[in-house]
Amino acid sequence: MAERLAAVAGLRVTLIDKRAQVGGQCYSRMDPETGVECHAYGSHIFHTSNEAVWNYLQRFARFNGYRHVVHAKYRNRVYTMPINLGTINAFYGGSLEPREVAAFLQREVEQAGINQPANLEEKAVALLGRPLYEAFIKGYTHKQWETDPRQLSADIITRLPVRHNYNTRYYDDLYEGIPWDGYTRLFERLLDHPLIELQLNTNFFDLGARRKEYDLVVYSGPLDQYFNYCEGRLEWRTLRFDVRRYSEPDAQGCSVMNYADLEVPYTRIHEFKHFHPERRPTPGTITYTEYSRAAGPEDDPYYPINTPRNIELLQKYQALAQAEEQVVFGGRLGSYQYLDMDDTVAQALAVAEQIIRLRP
Ligand code: UDP
Repeated sequence: MAERLAAVAGLRVTLIDKRAQVGGQCYSRMDPETGVECHAYGSHIFHTSNEAVWNYLQRFARFNGYRHVVHAKYRNRVYTMPINLGTINAFYGGSLEPREVAAFLQREVEQAGINQPANLEEKAVALLGRPLYEAFIKGYTHKQWETDPRQLSADIITRLPVRHNYNTRYYDDLYEGIPWDGYTRLFERLLDHPLIELQLNTNFFDLGARRKEYDLVVYSGPLDQYFNYCEGRLEWRTLRFDVRRYSEPDAQGCSVMNYADLEVPYTRIHEFKHFHPERRPTPGTITYTEYSRAAGPEDDPYYPINTPRNIELLQKYQALAQAEEQVVFGGRLGSYQYLDMDDTVAQALAVAEQIIRLRP
């Protein structure tokens, strides 16, 4: 939004971030010890079918040809995710053909006897049958959300397709890739405009009377924090990463390995060097092991939690947000929505366009 408001409308923009750097959770940095660029807040794989978003970002970054594939360990065996014909055949020890998959899964689903799926567990079981659900979804989802999958909205699972062929690509989108020289450079180029001033290490809530200097505020922090939690706190999941460096060139052979077993305390391990096969090989490597937990007041929020309580609370905050003049709320935190990067860019472009159009 800063870029659009400055470059198209010629408005002066101050970008305030309490962190020492820009880019939010997309921020990436070079690890000096291994020479591998890490996504500081976990793997970010850009993917979209939105032509306008893709074209817009091309101005600020060239994307490499990375195509995301996820492997998943369950009971000491390795499968590919999302569930595809290879996963199904390996799991059941069979050799089904594509034309046989639908009937096979149908029989599995019938055994579970779910007609109208009302939550994440029922939705997953109605798609996959119980054995595949219990292996690949139940434990992972439990660790990720620490909420009984029967309490979670079915929407979360619609992020994961089920393939009746051997296509192991994680995303179905038209465009995919990682910025050639990293996410941070993308943001730096995006914000490199004479009308954009950066105020880093600055907490928006410490601005006090200085807030009056601005005609418009675009707020992308947690929605409930803006209103001083007056209706209660919206719940978030946060992540913690254990960093490990290796003197060997390859630790796990892929960028993301999921861990489906409930007994394994982490959800996945990221090995960032695999995002850049085009870069010069490094002798060592680095991994981030991801742990998910409920966010406390001091933790970085990562994922909104789609439970009935939070949805109800969100509606109250949305009403307050709508009544707030000269403030626009957006992004994953500002809208309390599980937005992907491309959704966030699309939202920002649309809102910026509207502001520019309605400008006096
Ligand atoms: N999921 C799962 N098993 C997996 C991967 C994902 O059950 O191996 C479910 C889980 O509920 C998760 C959701 O699918 O929260 C979305 O996962 P994804 O990895 O796409 O989300 P991300 O955390 O990368 O945004």
